[in-house]
Amino acid sequence: MAEAPKNFIERIIEEDLEKSTYGGRVHTRFPPEPNGYLHIGHAKSIVLNFELAKKYGGKCNLRFDDTNPLTEKQEYVDAIKRDVKWLGYEWDEERYASDYFDRLYEFAVTLIKKGLAYVDSLPPEKIKEYRGDWNTPGRESPYRNRSVEENLELFERMRRGEFKEGECVLRAKIDMRSPNMNLRDPILYRIIHAPHYRQGAKWCIYPTYDMAHGQSDAIEGITHSICTLEFEDHRPLYEWLLKAIGLPEPHPKQIEFARLELTYTVLSKRRLIELVEGGYVAGWDDPRMPTLSGMRRRGYPPEAIRRFCREIGVSKVNAVVPLERLEECVRDVLNKTAPRRLAVLRPLRVVIENYPEGQVEWLDALNNPEDPNAGTRKVPFSRVIYIERDDFMEAPPPKFYRLAPGREVRLRYAYFIKCVDVVKDEKGEVVELRCTYDPATKGGKAPDGRKVKATIHWVSAAHAVDAEVRLYDRLFLKEDPTDVPEGVDWKTNVNPNSLEVLYPCKLEPSLAGAKPGERFQFERLGYFCVDPDSTPERLVFNRTVTLKDEWAKLKQKTRGEAA
Ligand code: ATP
Ligand code: MG
Repeated sequence: MAEAPKNFIERIIEEDLEKSTYGGRVHTRFPPEPNGYLHIGHAKSIVLNFELAKKYGGKCNLRFDDTNPLTEKQEYVDAIKRDVKWLGYEWDEERYASDYFDRLYEFAVTLIKKGLAYVDSLPPEKIKEYRGDWNTPGRESPYRNRSVEENLELFERMRRGEFKEGECVLRAKIDMRSPNMNLRDPILYRIIHAPHYRQGAKWCIYPTYDMAHGQSDAIEGITHSICTLEFEDHRPLYEWLLKAIGLPEPHPKQIEFARLELTYTVLSKRRLIELVEGGYVAGWDDPRMPTLSGMRRRGYPPEAIRRFCREIGVSKVNAVVPLERLEECVRDVLNKTAPRRLAVLRPLRVVIENYPEGQVEWLDALNNPEDPNAGTRKVPFSRVIYIERDDFMEAPPPKFYRLAPGREVRLRYAYFIKCVDVVKDEKGEVVELRCTYDPATKGGKAPDGRKVKATIHWVSAAHAVDAEVRLYDRLFLKEDPTDVPEGVDWKTNVNPNSLEVLYPCKLEPSLAGAKPGERFQFERLGYFCVDPDSTPERLVFNRTVTLKDEWAKLKQKTRGEAA
């Protein structure tokens, strides 16, 4: 097999290996801020960083980029570690940017001593005004030329807590006229009078992203620091700081790639927090959430997420990926691995009039036709069964080939049955079907060669296990959920019908002991996973994904091809 073409990051790494830029080392890191749960966008970065390290015999760190005490929590650290492991990766070193606060402080002092940083006492709104914009060059702060001694003393007093928030900041002294806004004397340290979840009350000044990130990379010996495109304009600052501080060379190299965006999905922790806090979903691990914990709960196999991330690849151009591509990966993996079971979600009772009362046959059913080693199991057949309400129509339109009065269909793994009568309640709703079966069709074939056009699934009523089944639809009505007119809340795009709960659904008895996390294909219906809410008394299943793309099917229907 030909080797997969190399992406641009692999080419950069291979060039560095060839030139021995880092003495043959490759060391990457995945650097989440513990201010929320990981989502599928983070998975792209995780797969990229960990697999590059593996491919080139290098290392990959898990680094918590925890420099903002206001938003970070241990709960998020724990969840992130769980999710990275679940995705299938082991980090070489577990690091925390906050463990470097002492060294970062020393780096700041170094910059001050070199005349490359100063304490600015302009109020925040003035700093913003003086910064200018794309069209207006910035203006220098009147505090820009404070002496080294004065800056050292003021910075020390900032650290001791002698100033209020916003009273002063530490800025790099670069170029207020630079066309790159990031170089207009960026802020390196700000005062935040808040304890840090790991450092406690030790600090009241905290480094900004720019001050912390590259320096943490250098401390850890990272060679290739991979981030998303928004940071492209920060790269000159990244390089400036490493050099200005005088960190040993060779310096880590920042490389940017396009972030993952998916249709019908928001991938920003800030927005995901709004969904959780606004009660639009039941929590971070709600199966409708694009978080890894939500996808786990929904039944997405980690292998499917890894495959998706590899397939979409990396590029320098932002593009929105259709959600269906992720769902296809989920189906592909589950098709090969998920045991098949019979389950009826919306039961309709069927009495087979000529089947002996009290008789039960245990029929062989295939566990997975895709996997010859998966074997068979026994499913009970008896006089009263349930079929899917949708599989019967009293007045079937053309091309509806399933059960109807006078018509014969095949019951999967069992017999042909024919509908001979329909029982209705006082409202005229069909509540039961009367059928006959043909004993000669056992196993699904008629000895006289007569054909039926449909095979439907069923469950024996006396043996059925009741379960709650949760069906999920897209969480948003629009492809771009954030597309709203000025002043309108983006959350008005939340789909009010994204969850449908069915009870009691009827399952074949072998599902009685199913444990949370176990995945199955319910034949003809889709893939389902046992929810953590499930108990032996009340089983709960989540629909992971339908068998086929419902939307493609809908389009087919409008062309009149429904079977
Ligand atoms: P969010 O905007 O959701 O808060 P973030 O970028 O602030 O995301 P971090 O915790 O800082 O979240 O991200 C950790 C790593 O994951 C970073 O390297 C970041 O570039 C990467 N990452 C975040 N979102 C995506 C995405 N949608 N696609 C690819 N990589 C991403
Ligand atoms: Mg971030």
